[in-house]
Amino acid sequence: MWLYSTKDRSSKYTLQKAVMQSLPPDNGLFMPNAIPVLSQQDIARLMEMDFASLSYEVASRLLHGGLPVDILKEIVHEAINFPAPVISLDGKTGILELFHGPSLAFKDFGARFMSRLMGYFNRNEDKELTILVATSGDTGGAVAAGFLGTPGIRVVILYPSQKVSQIQELQLTTLGQNIHAIEIDGTFDDCQALVKLAFLDQGLNKALRLSSANSINIARLIPQSFYYFEAYKQTCKHAAEQDLKIQFVVPSGNFGNLTAGLLAKRMGLPTAPFIAATNANHVVPDYLGTGSYLPKPSVRTISNAMDVGSPSNFVRMEALYGSTWNIMNQDILGYWVTDDQTETTVRKVYKDYDYVIDPHGAVAFHALERYRESHPDCYSIVLETAHPAKFLDDMERILGMDIDIPESLQALSSRQKVATFMINDFASFKDYLLAL
Ligand SMILES: *Cc1c(COP(=O)(O)O)cnc(C)c1O
Repeated sequence: MWLYSTKDRSSKYTLQKAVMQSLPPDNGLFMPNAIPVLSQQDIARLMEMDFASLSYEVASRLLHGGLPVDILKEIVHEAINFPAPVISLDGKTGILELFHGPSLAFKDFGARFMSRLMGYFNRNEDKELTILVATSGDTGGAVAAGFLGTPGIRVVILYPSQKVSQIQELQLTTLGQNIHAIEIDGTFDDCQALVKLAFLDQGLNKALRLSSANSINIARLIPQSFYYFEAYKQTCKHAAEQDLKIQFVVPSGNFGNLTAGLLAKRMGLPTAPFIAATNANHVVPDYLGTGSYLPKPSVRTISNAMDVGSPSNFVRMEALYGSTWNIMNQDILGYWVTDDQTETTVRKVYKDYDYVIDPHGAVAFHALERYRESHPDCYSIVLETAHPAKFLDDMERILGMDIDIPESLQALSSRQKVATFMINDFASFKDYLLAL
C-alpha cells in the first residue's frame, strides 16, 4: 500500500514513513491511496468472525503490503483485546460501547494499535523516539496507557489547564516511566498548534526523532474503522428482519472517528448516511449546511473531548469527497447540540431506557432524535465514546445521583499528579523538549 498527502494527490509514502512521521512534509495529512472494496461475500464472511479476527481481515486489506502479515496479525490481536458491544435500547436504537479499554474511551483502539505499529517500525533504531500529543481530554489517557513501557519510545502529552476533567488529568499525569505531561495555560487548539509548530521546527527535528499520536496519525484512524464492522456484525440480522438500514451516529470533535466510519463505508460496509454530531463547536455541521468552511476558536462545553474549533480530519473528509460539499452531504448529515440539550438528553436516556449515557454519547443521541423527526427509519447505532464515570462531576450533577465508578478509575484517585505547567509559548516548549 501507499499513502498520499492530502496536499498532493500524486505524492507517495510507505506505511512506515506515514506512521513514523505522522505528518507529510507539506503539512497535509496522510491518506491511503487506494481503499480496497470488500465484496458482499467478503463482508458476509467477516460477520462470522470474532472482533479481533475481523479487524485483522479489514486491516490486512487496507494495509496490504505495509508490513508482514504475521506481524500485523499479532499487532491487531494484541490491540483489539477488549469488546465493543452494541447495547440495544429499543428495536431501532443501539449504543455501541467503545469504552471497555484501559482508559475507558474509544481512543484506546487507536492508541493500542499505533503504539504496537510504531514499536515495530522503530525496532532497529538507536535514538529514542519522542511522541508529541495534544489532548482535549481523552487522547492523553489512551496514549499514555497505550505507550506505557514501550521500549525506545517516550511520550510528551500537552493538555489545556483546567479544561480536562480530574479523572482525565489523573490518567495522563500519573503513569510516570516514559510518559511526560505538560499542562498548558491555554486551549486545546493552543496545544495542537504547539505540536504542529514542533514538527515544522528544523532545530527540534535535527535534535530529536519526533512523531505524533494524535488522531492526525493514520495509525490512529485505521483501527477505528474496525468497530464499525463489529457493530454491523452484531446488528445486521436484527436490522434486516425489520428491513432497516444500519446507520451510525458519531459524536465528533476532530472527526477522526467519523472519518474512520467513512473509510469503512468506502470499504463496502453498507450503511445509511452517517450523522455527525457536534457540541457548540459546529464548524463541520455549518459546512454541511452552507458549503462554507470557517474554523473558529474552540468553545468550552460539557462534552469537552469534542471542543475543537478547527477539526484536523476535515481535510481527510475532503480528500474522500472532494471539495464539493453537496457530495459529502449525501453521506454525512451534520447536527450540533447545546449543553442544555446534552444534559436534557442524559436525563431522558436514563429515564426512558435506564441507561447512563455520557455527555459525548448524549450529543449524538440528541442529534439522532432530531434526525428522526424528519427522516425515514434506520437501525441507528449511537457511538458511546467514553465511560460516563470519566465525567463524574457533570454526570452526578446532571442525574442527581451517584454514578458507578469502575475499579480502574477508583485506583487513580490515590495517585500523585506529575505535570510541568507552561505558558502557551513555543520557545518554552522547545526548550523543554531539548532538555528532556
Ligand atoms: C476524542 C473524543 C471524541 C471525538 O472524537 P473525534 O475522533 O476527535 O471526532 C468524542 N468523544 C470522546 C469521549 C472523545 O474522547
